[in-house]
Amino acid sequence: MYDDNNIFAKIIRKEIPCKLVYEDEKVLFFNDINPKATIHILGVPKNSVINLREFITNSDKDTVKYFFDKTLEVIRNFGLDKAGYRLITNDGKNGNQEIPHFHIHILGGENLGGLR
Ligand code: 5GP
Repeated sequence: MYDDNNIFAKIIRKEIPCKLVYEDEKVLFFNDINPKATIHILGVPKNSVINLREFITNSDKDTVKYFFDKTLEVIRNFGLDKAGYRLITNDGKNGNQEIPHFHIHILGGENLGGLR
């Protein structure tokens, strides 16, 4: 069950500050507090969904498309479409998901090396 008190829910409600990249009524993109690359942006839909599976299953197609369209906009705005980038979403215990609100990591700004 979705926990309304998770950190990203608090960031969405402006109870915790963040370094804003882009926001509108449906989505929020902000810098990761502990960046793993030169550019490390987190993207969240404002829907109360825990992970990618819930987001896709519980949202209508327009909502899902809107989120990924905005993700592409952020990618382009940072020039990552030219230089390359990595998208990650963690899910559950083996994915080591820390915050139980669906989010994607957008990583770039340097060569990210291979996956472990
Ligand atoms: P996860 O492991 O859930 O996919 O990733 C959670 C991410 O959220 C981590 O990369 C972590 O650094 C980031 N994070 C945790 N707490 C905060 C916070 O309060 N503010 C921001 N901007 N990022 C956070």
